[in-house]
Amino acid sequence: MRNTRMSLAYHAGGRNGCTSPLTSYLALPPPLPVIILVADGARPDTLRAAMAGGALPHLSQLAAEGGMHTVTTAWPSVTGVAYTPFLMGRFPGSVGLPGLRWFDRSRGIGPWMAYARSYVGWGMRHVDRDLAIDAPTVFELADSSLGALAVIGRGLPHACRIGRGARFVSRAATTHFRGDVRGWLAIDRDIGREVVRRVRRDAPEFVFAAFTGIDKTSHATGHDGSPVREAMRTLDDVVAEIRHDAERAGRWEQTHLWIVSDHGHSPVQHHDDLAVLVGEEWGFRTLAHPWTVGAGHEVAVMVSGNAMAHVYLELERRVRPFWPALAPRWEGVAASLLSRASVDLLVLPHTPGMVEVRARDRGSAMISFDDGSYTYRPLDGDPLGIGAVEGAGGREAYDATVDSDYPDALVQIAHLAASPRAGDILLSAARGWDFRERYEPIPHRSAHGALHRDHMLAPLVVNHAVLQPPRRTVDVMPSALAALGVPIPDGLDGESFVSEAGNLALISAG
Ligand SMILES: [Zn+2]
Repeated sequence: MRNTRMSLAYHAGGRNGCTSPLTSYLALPPPLPVIILVADGARPDTLRAAMAGGALPHLSQLAAEGGMHTVTTAWPSVTGVAYTPFLMGRFPGSVGLPGLRWFDRSRGIGPWMAYARSYVGWGMRHVDRDLAIDAPTVFELADSSLGALAVIGRGLPHACRIGRGARFVSRAATTHFRGDVRGWLAIDRDIGREVVRRVRRDAPEFVFAAFTGIDKTSHATGHDGSPVREAMRTLDDVVAEIRHDAERAGRWEQTHLWIVSDHGHSPVQHHDDLAVLVGEEWGFRTLAHPWTVGAGHEVAVMVSGNAMAHVYLELERRVRPFWPALAPRWEGVAASLLSRASVDLLVLPHTPGMVEVRARDRGSAMISFDDGSYTYRPLDGDPLGIGAVEGAGGREAYDATVDSDYPDALVQIAHLAASPRAGDILLSAARGWDFRERYEPIPHRSAHGALHRDHMLAPLVVNHAVLQPPRRTVDVMPSALAALGVPIPDGLDGESFVSEAGNLALISAG
């Protein structure tokens, strides 16, 4: 069936456009669209509370009809990077996005950028070229797509992108650097209007639209602030309009509409600016954004979200050294970092398949992993508080951690530490703390990026009942493909929570 659709689409000349090609070619009803709206930064309990309070009637209606689930995101739990699961079905470190900022030992990034990446502002344009070439995006697999603030855009034609033009980027940059909270709410409303219009006009198969207002207002006012609720209501209005249009067109029953978040949020009272600490207090020549000029750096501090950081040591090395080779010189630095109130977990990759985790008052443990099997052995303590885990598969590793303070930490730490682009020391911040202060345009009252549950849990609202419980945000992409009747590629980190019944419905419709 799929082959027929693809070849027809090809002859119609519309594959990978914004308009469903088969629809226009055969004048058929559009095939089972999947529409994903990202409520960026919405914590499940906050969203549930707003729904229970009656503030989001259309989201509540969806949840009542289909369901509301809590899933885990990927580490680092940070915008853009944590969209990788939705669009590629893979963890970000596995496809080349270890964080919002990272240092490139291989020197693939040029010296004029100090061999370092930051996806903040204009830097976002580098995301697509940094992605593993052999890991397809859903945009490359679906016949027709629409993306709004998708961050990852590979396979998405320019005409099918909302919020990628120079004018939009400069508007977003101005809003960011002015710390203009209301500006973000206005951007959400404009994006919503345009998404609704384009879905109505083009009926794309796959839609991915990110709404950043909840995240931006949370940083500025706290996650329980009234602008956050306003941003949630904007999203609820978009849900209402999409539903209304689909019902009027007689397509609602065939439409999959999912609302999901990429990370949570938690209050920050203290900032421990790691770049200032390592550079100015400890005296290492330190590379950190935004000022990356100069040479001869010894240490790179690359912060995400701002409650997560990669720290790279001995930058002159072109090949990743791993902790056993670094420990003789840097053990004191690791110990000093761990002694800080800001640091909750300190992660030290020993080999691509073995990583040590330390917590200040809970000792250390070793995670080893190989071919989908995860083991967690306490060394002199239990930093994750989950007890020993031996040879667990992906599902068991999830079950072993999901009720702890570090949901899915075994799998997330293993995959991020294995990324060739990861740091030599990875830090997850303690509650109440983050790792950046000096160059933030607004004081952060709330943060994300860490491994604890306030940051790692995300809501998933679906309008049709699921076949099996969704676990991770990486399950979203294979589920979307299943709903679209597109073959699911090998090597994904997630699994589908919907049946392929959608495809059968299309056959009978055809
Ligand atoms: Zn954020």
